[in-house]
Amino acid sequence: MKLLEERIVKDGLLGTGNVLKVDSFLNHQIDVAFVSQLGQEFKRLFHDCDVNKILTIEASGIGIACLAAQYFSVPVVFAKKSKTRNISGDVYTATVESYTHGIINTILVSKRFIGPEDRILIIDDFLANGAALEGLIQLVRDAGATVVGAGIVIEKAFQAGGDRIRSMGVRVESLARIKSMDPETGIEFI
Ligand code: 5GP
Repeated sequence: MKLLEERIVKDGLLGTGNVLKVDSFLNHQIDVAFVSQLGQEFKRLFHDCDVNKILTIEASGIGIACLAAQYFSVPVVFAKKSKTRNISGDVYTATVESYTHGIINTILVSKRFIGPEDRILIIDDFLANGAALEGLIQLVRDAGATVVGAGIVIEKAFQAGGDRIRSMGVRVESLARIKSMDPETGIEFI
């Protein structure tokens, strides 16, 4: 998506450890009108998939998923990163190693909110090594629900996640795919 690539080049900052910071429009401050356009693009890509629920992971995925959900007219469920008192009863869980923080999180979703009748679109901000997406796919499959695909805003295609998840037979649509990024030479897209 050209518009997104241009925004990444204009406002993205390259941090250490292959981390791209897009805090000014996606991950900290949110440009709502812009991210809504990303949501519309997800709708165009998955319009014929009978999506009845969008699943994401806290925290950065929530805003993106909600803005996309407006176009699908479906609810958003977000996986929580640790067990809190707010969640009661049975839960589906998976373990996910955080790319940016290097810690292992247990992610969980209440069994009340996903079940065998659901056709789920997973949405997230970044795809790097694929741990977050794999954990979300596991939750959906444990619930007996169907993963219709994954909508990713930025895929760092030079990392292993995209190929691995696609080889599992999951449709992955990324709005921007980064081939390489380097503080000296900049960002190259596929
Ligand atoms: P993965 O599990 O695919 O290795 O990493 C995906 C998760 O790590 C995303 O949910 C995102 O929050 C975070 N992440 C991975 N790479 C980046 C990056 O370059 N920049 C930012 N801001 N987050 C990233």
